Amino acid sequence: EYIAVGELANLMGVSVNEVIQKCIGLGLMVSINQRLDFETIELIASDFGFEVELEEEYLSDLIEEEDDPGESLKPRPPVVTIMGHVDHGKTSLLDFIRRTNVVAGEAGGITQHIGAYKVALEDGKEITFLDTPGHEAFTAMRARGAQITDIVVLVVAADDAVMPQTVEAINHALAANVSIIVAINKIDKPNANTEKIKQQLAERNVLVEDWGGKYQCVELSAKTGKNVDLLLEKILLEAEMLDLKANPDRPARGAVIESQLDKGRGITATILVQKGTLRISDPFVAGTAYGRVRAMFDERGNKVKEAPPSTPVLVLGFESTPQAGDTFAVVESEREAREISIKRMQIKREQEHRQVRHMTLEEIANQISSGGIKELPIIVKGDVDGSVEALSDALMKLSNDEVSVKVIHKGVGAISEGDVLLAAASGAIIIGFHVRPNSNARKLAETEKVDIRLYNIIYDAINAVKSALEGLLSPVV
Ligand code: GDP
Repeated sequence: EYIAVGELANLMGVSVNEVIQKCIGLGLMVSINQRLDFETIELIASDFGFEVELEEEYLSDLIEEEDDPGESLKPRPPVVTIMGHVDHGKTSLLDFIRRTNVVAGEAGGITQHIGAYKVALEDGKEITFLDTPGHEAFTAMRARGAQITDIVVLVVAADDAVMPQTVEAINHALAANVSIIVAINKIDKPNANTEKIKQQLAERNVLVEDWGGKYQCVELSAKTGKNVDLLLEKILLEAEMLDLKANPDRPARGAVIESQLDKGRGITATILVQKGTLRISDPFVAGTAYGRVRAMFDERGNKVKEAPPSTPVLVLGFESTPQAGDTFAVVESEREAREISIKRMQIKREQEHRQVRHMTLEEIANQISSGGIKELPIIVKGDVDGSVEALSDALMKLSNDEVSVKVIHKGVGAISEGDVLLAAASGAIIIGFHVRPNSNARKLAETEKVDIRLYNIIYDAINAVKSALEGLLSPVV
């Protein structure tokens, strides 16, 4: 088994959704993180129009040996994303942690915004925070095949309530299968009511520990800093339970967090190293971009020579600009890096001219009738809460022995880019009831090949999914 579904999509420059759909076509129910065997990779790649020869050569550098499960694996710091509703204090929390936790003996704090930063705690333990809070960025990376977050900190303001974006954040984190730690923020406020928040979270199936659930929860203030240290401790505890490990003694692999064009330094990009150790003068590919590491800087602006797993570094030496979410991999030589980059650009150009199949409800119907699908993920958006609930319940009840309908997210309001990204990253279709996609969402759905179905009558929506489940749906015109 070689690369995972998401990575394969990323490497071929197609959406994860399309690869998942191909797998379904082969009778494989896969998730974004699932690794595929070589035969499957070959089959899928050929579906996307690769010459077999080209494929092997193209893929060979990407196929990585499995990490030795033995001693080569060393503990690595957790990578954390902070999510939550707007104004609930995500940025304040990131800033407080950034300001207060400076590596012992390190002069000056974190001065540069490079998209991520690592903090060192007293006992030598470390935590890496992604500096772009929110679930949209998180899921956009996922839709490109980059799974980089280990733990999501869900921020909810104690003087407010569980809000629509809180629910979105929960569902995006659950869909990505990452751990969640609840941070109830703003407890310094006189009208803070933490029990109410726990209650509302429980109603959303997020049961915190002192309510008998599995989610760790911290009541804190990002303003005064109260209990922020406790949050960091809980993150480390969660990381310990997750047993996060990587092999530092191999060529580096990771993901592009962000890239920028700097007048003085040329193209720079922040790379989160996930495996191996990145070093000066390593040749690399990142999506269609390539280069050689000329220099590396940390978030304090210090030059660094080596970046081990879970370390974010600003890398200089790109020949062209990579995109956030691109896979980054060190290869043998700069010549090889350039060749891979050229091939990827060719493939990308060819892809742009090819008619791609969509993950539509009709397709799903076909797959179901051939027995190739076991689960139908759906996102439900509607104009009022009552109908969203009613429709979601009715859809889930359509599950039968062969196929289960899973509503991975539901909410009131127009279909947003976030919804489309979630669908793209999860192989889901979107059902809108008395709502429409906004224009950005519509455009994104086109490029990401996400099927959006709009209905004004609940019965019609239920019937369409029911027919799909029975494998009977005929294409709508
Ligand atoms: P974000 O939109 O989630 O990133 O929220 P911000 O971090 O921008 O915070 C929104 C507002 O809430 C700002 O005015 C912050 O100063 C304020 N705020 C954040 N955390 C706290 C807190 O713990 N206590 C109080 N009193 N205010 C806070």
